[in-house]
Amino acid sequence: MEVLKNKKIISIGIIFVVLAVAATYLVVQQFNNKEEIVELPYQEFARRVEAGEIQRVFLSEGPQLKGTFTSGESFVTDNPRNDQLKELLLLKAVEVEEVSQQYTPSQIVTFVAVILVFGILAIFLSRQSSRQTSKEYDKMSSVEYSSNQEKRISFGNVAGNQEAKDSLMEMVDFLKNPEKYEKYGARMPKGVILYGPPGTGKTLMAKALASEADVDFMAVSGSDFVQIYAGVGAARIRSLFKKAREKGKCVIFIDEIDAMGKKRDRGGIGGSDESDRTLNALLTEMSGFKGSEGIIVLAATNRLDTLDEALLRPGRFDRQIEVGLPDINARREILALYCKDRPVEETLDLNALAHQTVYFSGAKLENLMNEAAIFAAREDANCITQQHIDRAFYVVVAGEEKKDRSSIEELDRRITAYHEAGHAVVTKLLCPNNRVTKVTIIPSTKGFGGFSMNIPADKMYQTKRDMMNNIKVALAGRIVEEIIFGSDNITTGASNDIQKATEILTAMVKRFGMNESIGMINYDVLMGHQGTDQRLIEVCNQQMNKLFTETKEVIEGHMTLVKRVAEALLDQETLNEKDINDMYSEYTKETA
Ligand code: ADP
Ligand code: ZN
Repeated sequence: MEVLKNKKIISIGIIFVVLAVAATYLVVQQFNNKEEIVELPYQEFARRVEAGEIQRVFLSEGPQLKGTFTSGESFVTDNPRNDQLKELLLLKAVEVEEVSQQYTPSQIVTFVAVILVFGILAIFLSRQSSRQTSKEYDKMSSVEYSSNQEKRISFGNVAGNQEAKDSLMEMVDFLKNPEKYEKYGARMPKGVILYGPPGTGKTLMAKALASEADVDFMAVSGSDFVQIYAGVGAARIRSLFKKAREKGKCVIFIDEIDAMGKKRDRGGIGGSDESDRTLNALLTEMSGFKGSEGIIVLAATNRLDTLDEALLRPGRFDRQIEVGLPDINARREILALYCKDRPVEETLDLNALAHQTVYFSGAKLENLMNEAAIFAAREDANCITQQHIDRAFYVVVAGEEKKDRSSIEELDRRITAYHEAGHAVVTKLLCPNNRVTKVTIIPSTKGFGGFSMNIPADKMYQTKRDMMNNIKVALAGRIVEEIIFGSDNITTGASNDIQKATEILTAMVKRFGMNESIGMINYDVLMGHQGTDQRLIEVCNQQMNKLFTETKEVIEGHMTLVKRVAEALLDQETLNEKDINDMYSEYTKETA
């Protein structure tokens, strides 16, 4: 086979060489021809016409006029493109020939040869690649999947998310004994969608379901089905289900199903055809298998609202389970789970740690404990301590802690310290329900200098005052910079703060009816999501300036406290909740 293929390539190669040589020859020929042509000034041409020395002229539209002398020599001259020229020449007994193009035969041959060479080259290359394609197509249309046969994962490995777990546990029995349910005419879901932020344990739960039911687990990703070649995605779906049927009972897990099941763009021409085909193949396969087969398709997505409704109809993914970020109890459980097999300090306060890790996903908590373990191992410590966890905290939230702090200019440290002190002090002054759990000026590789975390008290609604205060907290960093270092020395360090403040403010104005001049209007409904117009910008700008001035007044009244916090930060680099609270209560006692 190989030899045969090589021979073919060689023979095609030879054809190329021959054609290339021929083309080159013709081009050279063409240049040689040119030398025999006399270039004639037009005046001279006119004189020779008068003298009767011109045999023939080729009239054309081109810039040059060609012809031959009576001596047989060729010449060219400027083409006057004069309508009378032909008559003039004829009167002088010159033979006139009209040509539409000025190409000489040899030029045409050269042209054709070049086209031929490139044409054949193109055909050859495309045939090579299409042969490759058809070979790859077979390979591509079967999809790689991973299974979890190596390691048993039970629902015990999943902490928190009780409702989601309960919902999936119901299905364990169905997977084990589908016949039982069939007998009672119960229609069990064929597909379940798990939706929620990344790292919340969706994959983990799908694996747990398969292991607890003791069936095979086949994991693929929605993006595996998004292919440039037409029909490959659909072929992969068919191949996946074929393999699943061969296995008998199993759990098929499709991660990131939104990659292939995005809302379809109705009325659009072409473009989404391919993803339509893939999606249709999936729907067909899902309606095709019987409940008694014991196959369940679990799919995960970060956002349910982007999915095509067709996926969510009965008989398809008709059960949707939310998997959210863990609350404080769940966070403690997850932390406990990852402390279980690790040597941790006995005094470690998981409750406090759970408090500090608001908005952490399960994956982030796992990552936190893992990084802490790495720090402990690097130091050959006896066990993982709070200190290791503290350091791991910054790795997890903001990338690796920078080792060399000496390189950081003193001014940068001062700016960061005052900026962060601004956030902390304003939080204490304006948001007594929010907690400042940590303030630091330790830089991270992700760029921002410090990090201050304030945890809003758990509640269902936010008031207008809460939101305005949150904006003020965000603005406080920049304001202190401005007061201490002057308005020309403000830094880029506030960009995240500005983003946050803008987000809160636009939500207030656009969605929550919290601005008098805009009123009880949802801006997006009104404007059809093009949302930003001059008026909105003006209203927001005005409001933001007002909040800025108010915050500045608050801060100016408490600069003593800001300075104390900032100096403490410069000294200790990190302040914890107790440090901040102590400084604050001491300050309030003094000023009372
Ligand atoms: P998702 O599929 O939701 O993006 P994963 O299931 O892949 O998240 O979670 C990644 C990792 O995070 C898991 O392997 C596990 O180590 C950890 N994890 C996430 N959520 C939990 C949880 N609720 N309980 C225990 N571990 C969790
Ligand atoms: Zn800031």
